[in-house]
Amino acid sequence: MLDTHLHLDDPKLADDVDKIIAECEQKGIEFVINNSCDLPTMLAGVKLAERFEIVFATVGMHPHDSKSFDDAFAAKMTELASHPKVVAVGEIGLDYHYDISDRATQRDVFAAQIELADSYGLPLQLHIRDAYGDAWDILRAQKKYLNNGVLWHCYGGSAEFARQAVKEGHYFAFGGAITFKNAHKEEVLRQIPIDRVLSETDSPYMAPVPLRGSINTPLNIPIIVKKLAEIYQIDCPAMETQIRDNTLRYFGKIAEYLNN
Ligand SMILES: [Zn+2]
Repeated sequence: MLDTHLHLDDPKLADDVDKIIAECEQKGIEFVINNSCDLPTMLAGVKLAERFEIVFATVGMHPHDSKSFDDAFAAKMTELASHPKVVAVGEIGLDYHYDISDRATQRDVFAAQIELADSYGLPLQLHIRDAYGDAWDILRAQKKYLNNGVLWHCYGGSAEFARQAVKEGHYFAFGGAITFKNAHKEEVLRQIPIDRVLSETDSPYMAPVPLRGSINTPLNIPIIVKKLAEIYQIDCPAMETQIRDNTLRYFGKIAEYLNN
């Protein structure tokens, strides 16, 4: 089983990371992807990837932190992007729910990071909240840079946007939110072919039902796989295999790393 989006460097998990990784290995969690949000988390993610065989990392700046994006950060992204265990640019995007960085800055930094990702040959991991229209406009404007894949992390948009994104070849990662009571999510998932779906926890956030509100860890990934299996009406092992195929197809550097 795989967790394509989490934050092991988060203070809620950092002290227990050895224990969590050991348990993941025991329970058959094959690998996890630690997501970068700013300079400290980007550096911490690469360190974790060097320390633990099952950890991969991303480079990039979260929309909340867009206001601190500068040339020095971009240079550091570029330096780390060629690391064999850095597999994507993320989490990048727009967050109009909290508006921690102003919206114009978020849009500029999102567009800039899409171009950088293309120059590295890496796929994207998007964080979009309450900003699907603007995100869509930026993706359309930056279309020539979208050569390595677009993945919507914790997709919360409409069924209609999902349909459009499927047509463009995008992927979708789902976590705890699909276990919350919300019929709308299942309607969205019906738009998404099974070969575009990935599993994630977003640990330490978004713990799934029945653990909602607790500190989430990658050990909860079986709950997500089970829920996806229910939605797609196949058994858990088949869902697991499908997710693994999708993940290795999307994150080419992981497939390459595992083959070496
Ligand atoms: Zn995240």
